[in-house]
Amino acid sequence: MKPIVQALVDALGTGSVKTGDAIEARYLGDWSGKATSNPLAVALPRSTAEVATVLRLCNEARQGVVPQGGLTGLAGGAIPSSGDICLSLERMVGIEEIDPASATMTVLAGTTLQTVQEAALAAGFEFALDLGARGSCQIGGNLATNAGGVRVVQSGTARDQVLGLEVVTADGSVLSSMSKMVKNNTGYDLRHLFIGSEGTLGIITRAVLRLKPCRAARSTALCAVKDYDSAVGLLRALQAHFGDEVGAFEIMWPDFFDFGVSFSRTKQSPFGAAYPLYALIEQAGFSDDGGERFAAALNTQLEAGVLLDAVVAQSQAETQALWAIREATAELPVKLDPINFDVSLPIGEIGRFVDACREVFARRWPGHYAVYFGHIGDSNLHVTVDGRSIPGVSAEEVDHVLYSLVRNYRGSISAEHGIGVLKRPFLGYSRSPSELAVMRAIKDALDPRHILNPGKVLPPV
Ligand code: FAD
Repeated sequence: MKPIVQALVDALGTGSVKTGDAIEARYLGDWSGKATSNPLAVALPRSTAEVATVLRLCNEARQGVVPQGGLTGLAGGAIPSSGDICLSLERMVGIEEIDPASATMTVLAGTTLQTVQEAALAAGFEFALDLGARGSCQIGGNLATNAGGVRVVQSGTARDQVLGLEVVTADGSVLSSMSKMVKNNTGYDLRHLFIGSEGTLGIITRAVLRLKPCRAARSTALCAVKDYDSAVGLLRALQAHFGDEVGAFEIMWPDFFDFGVSFSRTKQSPFGAAYPLYALIEQAGFSDDGGERFAAALNTQLEAGVLLDAVVAQSQAETQALWAIREATAELPVKLDPINFDVSLPIGEIGRFVDACREVFARRWPGHYAVYFGHIGDSNLHVTVDGRSIPGVSAEEVDHVLYSLVRNYRGSISAEHGIGVLKRPFLGYSRSPSELAVMRAIKDALDPRHILNPGKVLPPV
């Protein structure tokens, strides 16, 4: 046994350090599908003090440590290289406190998102973050990746749901900023350094989360518009009318819409005709008017010619049927050999970007198949290219073509999932040399021996 592993066993006990065949396959990879290697050991601390002990020992031994949450990440950020030690947060589970006056919840980092959502609801509040992996992903992982999800247009990203944070830094120091206050302008806001840092600057152990009042009334509609600019016009008109009651604004280009419809129960579009662009819209408010205000606002847009057509769900079953078209994303890995992109662009540019992307792809790979959809209210576009439609072309080649276009549009190569290892070669497409230099300076200051999540996020100099 390597001395560092023996030191961890001595400090934490044999039950908290797995080695060799005792390391289950789930610790070796995440949902990104990236190839994995065997770690030296998996440490399973039960408290902040134990996390601090692991990092202190590993720092002294210059041992690489890979933080692991629910392992649902899609950028390969939690995958160990051989010789790394994984530090799983799975035993640091629990809600310490719900404070109704502050509207906060204090949680341990290994608690799943779904547990947090359910506890918030039981206490008469809502936790605004939501995403498909809710049952497995952990709050620590959500914060480390600054997760987005389906409600960003209304409530912002994971970053916006946090008031306080406790982090263990590389040398084992515990940095506690567990504030419950909304206003706190006392120097640098350290929590934001760690949120989105993908485990490269510190390990998140606890958090004070913001809770929101429950939005009891939800209305959903599928709308058809003539072009992208009309979709943006519709979004802004609805926001002018409803403010942050606009809870989702999902755009689907016809290729994705047809794919989604083909997996719906009826396999038929809710419209009698095909349209250039579709928007699935949710209005989530506090007073239940039976959807009247929403229907009236859509009617105004219909009369103004902004909308070509609209179907408003009249029941929970109809709402689910409309969402099922958008949620056909789950079928992408089943039916295609997907090369996925999750990029951000200035909202006014997304339509032109999609046109340019189609043109570049068609010129380079005639016969390719790609689908386009996104949460345009938060500047997020998803593109999925079917690898089977471009035989002999590597995913890296498609990455290069698409990310080059993103760079030309001054967009971001990663809207939601972080950089991890998969997007690391392209970080410079969205960040300037001076931004990268500051990131490296921060990394050197907080983790001078570079033990935390080695080889992730920052490309080699
Ligand atoms: P992991 O995958 O375990 O780790 C992710 C990164 O965070 C790694 O770099 C890891 O080292 C680091 N990390 C984990 N825990 C900690 C910690 N406590 N301290 C420091 N670093 C840590 N993401 C979105 O943003 N929006 C979506 O809509 C969305 N939908 C998804 C749907 C599905 C079906 C799936 C499988 C994934 C989806 N994701 C989405 C991606 C993923 O769920 C998120 O990135 C999630 O936040 C990762 O959390 P996790 O606990 O699984 O983290």
